[in-house]
Amino acid sequence: MEKRIKISEETKVIEKFAYKYFCDCCGGQIKEVPYEISSVQISFEEGSSYPSGTDTETEQVDCCVKCFKEKVKPALENLGFKFRRTVTNY
Ligand SMILES: [Zn+2]
Repeated sequence: MEKRIKISEETKVIEKFAYKYFCDCCGGQIKEVPYEISSVQISFEEGSSYPSGTDTETEQVDCCVKCFKEKVKPALENLGFKFRRTVTNY
């Protein structure tokens, strides 16, 4: 779920238009820390795409890393899903 937070005037300009996300499960704020990559994307997209146009619907949830590691991932693995691991290092 996406929630827009009213930010005080003293807040830096860069934060003025920032969206704050909260985990649908625990309600904790999902923070984005500069230079750190730690995020969860859970979404489903369905529809069609032709040269003449695209028509899709997307469903997604907001989930913090802690809830993903402790609840979502174990639940999906319990259903038989196997996570592919990709390592990026350059
Ligand atoms: Zn959470």
